[in-house]
Amino acid sequence: MHTRESPKTFRVKSFGCQMNVYDGERMAELLADKGIAPAPDGEEADLVVLNTCHIREKAAEKVYSDIGRLVKAGGERPPMIAVAGCVAQAEGEEIMARAPAVGMVVGPQAYHRLPELIDRAVRGERAVDTEMPADAKFAALPARRRAAPSAFLTIQEGCDKFCTYCVVPYTRGAEISRSFKDLLREAQRLVEAGAREITLLGQNVNAWTGEDAKGRSIGLDGLIRQLAALPDLARIRYTTSHPNDVTDGLIAAHGEVAKLMPYLHLPVQSGSDRVLKAMNRSHTAASYLKLLDRFRAARADIALSGDFIVGFPGETEAEFTETLRLVDAVGYAQAFSFKYSPRPGTPAATMTGHVAREVMDERLQRLQDAINRDQFAFNQRSVGRRCTVLVERKGKRPGQWLGKSPWLQSVFFEGASGIGEMAEVALAAAGPNSLAGELLVPAAA
Ligand code: SAM
Ligand code: SF4
Repeated sequence: MHTRESPKTFRVKSFGCQMNVYDGERMAELLADKGIAPAPDGEEADLVVLNTCHIREKAAEKVYSDIGRLVKAGGERPPMIAVAGCVAQAEGEEIMARAPAVGMVVGPQAYHRLPELIDRAVRGERAVDTEMPADAKFAALPARRRAAPSAFLTIQEGCDKFCTYCVVPYTRGAEISRSFKDLLREAQRLVEAGAREITLLGQNVNAWTGEDAKGRSIGLDGLIRQLAALPDLARIRYTTSHPNDVTDGLIAAHGEVAKLMPYLHLPVQSGSDRVLKAMNRSHTAASYLKLLDRFRAARADIALSGDFIVGFPGETEAEFTETLRLVDAVGYAQAFSFKYSPRPGTPAATMTGHVAREVMDERLQRLQDAINRDQFAFNQRSVGRRCTVLVERKGKRPGQWLGKSPWLQSVFFEGASGIGEMAEVALAAAGPNSLAGELLVPAAA
């Protein structure tokens, strides 16, 4: 056993989804509470937390190359390395065996115990903590003190859907909803700390259920309605939803709650009913399209987004063409598409008919071309609209600012007074990935 000095500085590197970004922020708060400071930009940190993603093979492999890079860069004094997130959960013992430089492994439901693991690492002990207690983590985390203008708030974790390709039910565990009381408190703290927009997060965010202050059972729409009453909160978003958990109330909220932004990320994965069945998605292409129509009826300008997997085992060219047809029918404002990646332990990994890599590459390209075409068209149709833009950071050019439109488009413009401002902007020109805007009135902060 080699004892080592207590780390004085840290860096958290988060990969993957927004829930990992949220977890990364919470880990940073825990470390700061322990008296460890964020490493200044460009300086090596004494402690590096790799907050990993296991959703696809490439994401998992990155961890090992990152560990190698950290060890090499550290030379005589390599940093203390902690592996957190879903790779930690799925491959904890394997990481310990394969990467001796890793001092601790902590799963997504156990990271509140990171400070203890650091103390153990200082004493020379290597430890794995991948327990999955139901709700101990959030209670043990410190109160929120800092917030970006657009902040994340995890309201729900885990998944009971068991799509046949997906590791999430195994790495994040069963669906749990955080209590209304805790969420209201955390949202209030985020707003006090400067958040103007809160994105409610969950692997299946619309499966959230709880009891409000009066003891009434509420769903995501009820939570949104109550958060909308926070006076200094200007915008609410949520992601990621599952088609099977969409309620009438949630659709209605899009028409009734002004602070709920006109944006919906509703993954579909495929346009083929046979593939959807093999994926265990329990919705069809037609039922998905019907749902989108209902959202559009509630909020005509809603921007639609989704996720797709190409090359699921057995996917034929004709079935892939059905996905392209669905894309054409929807006209997405944005969408994410991935090549199928077999994940050990999932039912799809042992299915027959794995699609050749070149076929997947070619299908992904065609799908992304279609999505990019629709995204550009959506941006072009936005030209001439007037909207609020929430300023998130400075742009690259002097005097330029970057913020988000209600439809989650990136908008560049000049004349804002600072980060966090809600600026009134006219959208003047469209590119494939962003828009140029003109400030209409000096912004009210
Ligand atoms: N719960 C959400 C849902 O049901 O859509 C999303 C969870 S997952 C973190 C995000 C996306 O990753 C999925 O929507 C899916 O498109 C993609 N994904 C999940 N497993 C995958 C796999 N084995 N190969 C490729 N993409 C995958
Ligand atoms: Fe994975 Fe399906 Fe659950 Fe989404 S719904 S997290 S894709 S198992």
